[in-house]
Amino acid sequence: MLVVMKAQATQEQVQAVCDAIAQLGYRAHPLPGAQRTAIGITGNKGAVERGNLEALPGVAEVIRVSKPYKLASRDVKEEDTIIRFPGTDATMGGDGLAVIAGPCSVESREQAFAIAEQIAAAGAQFFRGGAYKPRTSPYAFQGLGLDALKIMAEIRDKFGLRIVTEALDGETLNLVAEWADVVQIGARNMQNFSLLKRAGCLRKPVLIKRGLSATLEEFLMAAEYVMSEGNYEVILCERGVRTFSDHARNTLDLSVIPAVRRVSHLPIVVDPSHGTGRRESVLPMARAAVAAGAHGILVEVHHQPDKALSDGPQSIYPDQLARMMDDLEQIAPVVGRHLVRGIRVEATTADNA
Ligand code: PEP
Ligand code: MN
Repeated sequence: MLVVMKAQATQEQVQAVCDAIAQLGYRAHPLPGAQRTAIGITGNKGAVERGNLEALPGVAEVIRVSKPYKLASRDVKEEDTIIRFPGTDATMGGDGLAVIAGPCSVESREQAFAIAEQIAAAGAQFFRGGAYKPRTSPYAFQGLGLDALKIMAEIRDKFGLRIVTEALDGETLNLVAEWADVVQIGARNMQNFSLLKRAGCLRKPVLIKRGLSATLEEFLMAAEYVMSEGNYEVILCERGVRTFSDHARNTLDLSVIPAVRRVSHLPIVVDPSHGTGRRESVLPMARAAVAAGAHGILVEVHHQPDKALSDGPQSIYPDQLARMMDDLEQIAPVVGRHLVRGIRVEATTADNA
């Protein structure tokens, strides 16, 4: 169920409706839009008892949302969600393309800094490095953990890049939320419902990768889990699904982009690295993803991919990232977007002191 407020409804009226929803025993999710605020209702087992919601001041109408995902749906919020990063001009969603780049794993301070420097020079706004790695083999490199989080915090201080990194479980979620700007939930955890709920209690954006065989509905329900707990800053990431195809690690399903955008207001970015598993396929698929309407690209970059401790074969060289940025800059305007080069960070009081 969804309460649509009138365009001229006041903040007090919105609050009064939220209180009335809480009194009925449900949870209210006010989602302000450009024209009006909509208030999603969750927590009901069956049909929502409408009470006198329709009669409250400022209410335009009360409507049923028939889709299983509600807060992620365009029925609840018509315009695209734009996620902002306080103190910077970086965004995810909206007209500016977000480029999220970095090594699969942070392997050492030297490695991470060498790559970050070139990523910043290429003009990306986000650095992504793995601190906790979900590896198929327990004997493979598992990540540097907290040390990697600290190295990436230094990278943010030095280059301004905002930090994206994966949390594997409840324990690492809190650490990642403390040190990073965006919490990634990996493909294998897309249906780890307890982890999604815990991510919903954070007040940090959450990037959810599509599960290896997830349908569109399952993908959006993962976002719904996070949103149902009150965290509305969710970014979806297409990273390829399993098919019979044997020329690539996965099959990058770019057709999910218009499908997501039709039914959801959430940003969707594309990961052509895991999506193909092959360095030479990354650039063409990144171009195609932007042409298909993606809000950004998440890409693995390594200065010495032959020596990488994980995912070397799909990591592009820094000069290939620079080329990718040039190409995306040209393609973006065709689909009403633009590539933002570099990140502007406001001076903090500490910097001024
Ligand atoms: C990763 O992003 O490095 C990763 C392991 O991705 P995925 O969860 O998509 O396999
Ligand atoms: Mn990887």
